Amino acid sequence: MDNYCKVCFKRITDYSLYSLISKNNILCENCFAKLEAKFINFKIGSVRAISIYEYTDFIKELIYKFKGCYDYELKDVFLYRYINYLRINYHGYYVVPAPSYHIEDEKRGFNHVVEIFKSLKLKMLPIITKIEAHKQSSQSFKKRYEVNKIFAIENVDLKDKKILFVDDIFTTGSTAMSCIDLLKKRGAKKIEVLVIAKTKKKEKQEY
Ligand SMILES: [Zn+2]
Repeated sequence: MDNYCKVCFKRITDYSLYSLISKNNILCENCFAKLEAKFINFKIGSVRAISIYEYTDFIKELIYKFKGCYDYELKDVFLYRYINYLRINYHGYYVVPAPSYHIEDEKRGFNHVVEIFKSLKLKMLPIITKIEAHKQSSQSFKKRYEVNKIFAIENVDLKDKKILFVDDIFTTGSTAMSCIDLLKKRGAKKIEVLVIAKTKKKEKQEY
């Protein structure tokens, strides 16, 4: 059966050397080469963070197609080349996806961050939510959640857990910082951050 590249829809020819070395591939040779990771290390306060890619036009467009144009098939391409390495590196961690508004997830039909990082096959803890302003002041909501700006964390004990906080694009870091703060309040044993791409300073997120 013919395989087609999930990114550019080009047929993956089965007589190239590339297809011989990588069976069941989902990317053509060209897109495979463009998805070359940089594993950029940075810090968010005292927390270690890694950006898998540089924020190139290619990555930017890919994230936009997936997140903004609901191209669900792209969910696997982001981690595809490095999945084994990532699974080993974060073995034993619990994944906490960066929250987005429920209404956006409903419109899209999926949560884009959850879908990207599902392939790590680590336990997912979607315990942080983004809350609309009117809910934040509600007393019953405050009782159930620890609220921090527009984010809230469920009442769970993370004392024995190593947490990997994941997101697609890291821009100003304000989301990550608020979420790290909430995870610390729940007693997380260790926290690390993994993002698909980190924008360069001063660059604005467009979507
Ligand atoms: Zn391609």
